[in-house]
Amino acid sequence: MPGFFDTKIEFLRGVGPQKAALINKELNIFTFGELLQHYPFRYEDRTKFYKINQINGNLEHVQVIAKVRQLETVGLARKKRLVAYIEDDTGEMELTWFKGIQWVAKKLLPGAIYIFFGKPNQYGRKFSIAHPEMEPLTTAQEEKSSFQPVYPTTEKLRVKYLDSKGISRIMATLVQNAYPQIQETLPDDVLRRFNLTAKKDALKQIHFPDDPERLKRARFRLKFEEFFFVQLRLLKLKLTRTEKFKGQVLTQIELLNQFYKDHLPFDLTNAQKRVIRESYNDMRSGKQMNRLIQGDVGSGKTIVAFICALIAISSGAQTCLMAPTEILATQHFEGLKEFADMMGLRIDLLTGSTKKSVRKRIHGELLNGQLHILIGTHALLEDVVQFQNLGLAIVDEQHRFGVAQRAKLWAKNKNYYPHVLVMTATPIPRTLAMTLYGDLDISVIDELPAGRKPIQTIHRFDKDRLKVFGFMKKEIELGRQIYVVYPLIEDSEKMDLKSLMDGYESICRAFPQYPVSIVHGNMKPADKEFEMQRFVKNETKIMVATTVIEVGVNVPNASVMVIENAERFGLSQLHQLRGRVGRGAEQSYCILMSKYELSKDSRVRLDTMVRTNNGFEIADVDLKLRGPGDLMGTQQSGVADLLIADLSKDAPILTMARDAAQALIQEDPNLQLPQNAMVLRQIKNQKKHAVNWSRIS
Ligand code: ADP
Ligand code: MG
Repeated sequence: MPGFFDTKIEFLRGVGPQKAALINKELNIFTFGELLQHYPFRYEDRTKFYKINQINGNLEHVQVIAKVRQLETVGLARKKRLVAYIEDDTGEMELTWFKGIQWVAKKLLPGAIYIFFGKPNQYGRKFSIAHPEMEPLTTAQEEKSSFQPVYPTTEKLRVKYLDSKGISRIMATLVQNAYPQIQETLPDDVLRRFNLTAKKDALKQIHFPDDPERLKRARFRLKFEEFFFVQLRLLKLKLTRTEKFKGQVLTQIELLNQFYKDHLPFDLTNAQKRVIRESYNDMRSGKQMNRLIQGDVGSGKTIVAFICALIAISSGAQTCLMAPTEILATQHFEGLKEFADMMGLRIDLLTGSTKKSVRKRIHGELLNGQLHILIGTHALLEDVVQFQNLGLAIVDEQHRFGVAQRAKLWAKNKNYYPHVLVMTATPIPRTLAMTLYGDLDISVIDELPAGRKPIQTIHRFDKDRLKVFGFMKKEIELGRQIYVVYPLIEDSEKMDLKSLMDGYESICRAFPQYPVSIVHGNMKPADKEFEMQRFVKNETKIMVATTVIEVGVNVPNASVMVIENAERFGLSQLHQLRGRVGRGAEQSYCILMSKYELSKDSRVRLDTMVRTNNGFEIADVDLKLRGPGDLMGTQQSGVADLLIADLSKDAPILTMARDAAQALIQEDPNLQLPQNAMVLRQIKNQKKHAVNWSRIS
């Protein structure tokens, strides 16, 4: 039985089938419930009145109380317009109408006083408002100070009288009808604890606020609710998983102690120690670990992963580590093999290009338990890869792997799901992490190893290129290597490829004495690999490349990163690229090349890069610039459910809502208590709604 909120909008007074069809199409709104959630995006302050002599050209809108002195029709035929001359005790101005002239002329009475509202335009020293809104002044209205909602609308809706005002009119009808039907969705004690407005009042106030204070509270309430239900869903997911899936108990730390004592080449940072502790606590808890380790490039995630592997191996389980590319997997293998050899552990590498005979051997050794650690690419996920007892699965560079692939890893152990550690070098703001990965536990390595020289970042314009070349030459003479990166995006691939090749040629000309490598996405993988290796082996001094080198490649001798057309890169990408240098003992540099004319956003991006090396700070700016919608992986997550809440601005509300959701789940995991009935009902409603959405799109 469809309830009130599922009623089709065509049945709302003032809408009808034609307008309804248009609203369906333009706003993707079908039902009363959906329309009710079409929130204003701002409010016009109708509490403020201007005197005519206070008006200036910078004002977006003004509201004046004025007397109509005279009406006049000027121009002929299609150029005809109506002009009203109005005045108050400070001056005079004009109002003009190009349409509906007769109707206006009948309504406006010379000598009477009205409230006019609209955008003032300046003509010489005079001001005029075209098609102002108007109302006769009565004392009642003067007192009825109120905020007017401004709704998102479209051109097509506007011509059918569904401009913001038109939407506001049907919304008034809807809110009036809906008000008695609106049910509370949050439990009493949550309302009380966070001092939240009742749902029905929040909805009424968000559309037609009585005053700024009540509007503020309404917005708070609705944001809270959105966050609350997203968090509740994630926490429930997590709870189900931890309850259902037992984890292998991995408690032994002999190997870890031995490694610490005899082989660890440096002191761990406090952040590394903390993250190891957090992971160890999970691994021995009897519950399956699903932990995300966030750490900026160079923060030392690999060693943390290795130490966790030692815990697993000490406890009689195997470990695998999966990387997104063959190059990365190989680098991990080479790096970790050194440690594994010292410890007398067996480690191997499995990628797409592993020979068949080697593959077979690896499969065998995995099954009989001889192999302790397997490093690899996606090849690890294949069904033929079976372990004797996989205890820990580590995934490097999360954003290249989907949830489905994580699930495939889980299936590699029939008795227990293996513990999963996901490592990402893409710092994301806490708010976003809580929403995207709310079902994972999160650890943060927020500290770089001591003694690192921070990378110096410099912004240069294209005209300074010769100077930059000179600097590059000096660095090469000091024995360093250099990356020069070009953007390559699908939309402008041909042009981009051309500028990459042009750049390559001009570098070859400028540095005739040095061998130069080039790598881009259109090359065959084998050729790419070959060129990459030449650079890794220091056979070439300069690597000209597109962003294929973005992820994880480690060439400690490379100390300069030149990014061409830097204004075209996103912040997180710039930060990732910069992370390719600064890995050795030398002072490293990142040079951002851009054209001279920059958009405001581009300038903010480049300035941010120059100002800070802190990935989390950069991620925060990025979130503010782009909004969460564009960030990776947001589609499948709860972010799409946020209509009014804003991850970049409402972090404190998110924290409160998560606390509330956590407390609720703890007290009533299955939402069976009578006082939480409304929560369950709302979750069911949202599910119904979600089905709806997929049908539409
Ligand atoms: P990322 O977090 O980007 O994966 P890596 O694990 O590759 O970083 O570490 C970067 C470099 O820092 C490696 O050469 C590693 O050996 C080194 N390193 C890691 N931890 C420390 C530490 N605590 N002190 C000094 N060097 C460290
Ligand atoms: Mg790494």
